[in-house]
Amino acid sequence: MLRLVFVHHATFCVNSLAHWLGDSPFDDRHTPRDHFITAFLSLGEGYHNFHHQFPQDYRNAIRFYQYDPTKWLIATCAFFGLASHLKTFPENEVRKGQLQMIEKCVMDKKTKLQWGTPIADLPILSFEEFQDQVKSQGKKWTLLEGVVYDVAEFMTEHPGGEKYLKMALGKDMTAAFNGGMYDHSNAARNLLSLMRVAVVEYGGEVEAMKKNPLVPVYNDRPKEE
Ligand SMILES: [Zn+2]
Repeated sequence: MLRLVFVHHATFCVNSLAHWLGDSPFDDRHTPRDHFITAFLSLGEGYHNFHHQFPQDYRNAIRFYQYDPTKWLIATCAFFGLASHLKTFPENEVRKGQLQMIEKCVMDKKTKLQWGTPIADLPILSFEEFQDQVKSQGKKWTLLEGVVYDVAEFMTEHPGGEKYLKMALGKDMTAAFNGGMYDHSNAARNLLSLMRVAVVEYGGEVEAMKKNPLVPVYNDRPKEE
């Protein structure tokens, strides 16, 4: 009785445990999961996410260290001429699935961080309006690559000193920021993204990117679904 109970549960856990325990490295729209425990009980079939995605593939797992004796048996048979026409899913497609899941995970993590107001949502000012806000309204605004930043809160925090930020108010600091005075870090750019307040008409953004291909695209806030 024990033997029957064990064999039946080990076999049919493919429909229970393998659809519940583990992770989904290839696709997560359905329930199949990859896990060593299920693979151990089911002789490899527990790499079930792979199996559902690529059902005609003779393998369950693709890494050499994953426990997949079914695949090993078939491959050994093929080696001795006892099996033939082994099917595998195109490697390129398998990798695409993996990469899409990694992307999804990255996007999930991105949505948990603040990326500032998207550039597309910012109001558009003329260069004169931008300068006027600084001169007559006392705004602590500076301009970089066509985007206006309010650095009021950051004046005393600027690692290079407050005087450089004072100098930058009401001016286009694109060249100075990108190496003219100091070639700022990516961290500086990330921090700036939270201070965006407007964009300037005919701003220098495109020119700056053309001249320096290393300038990262800073509008990298994840798209809302
Ligand atoms: Zn299944």
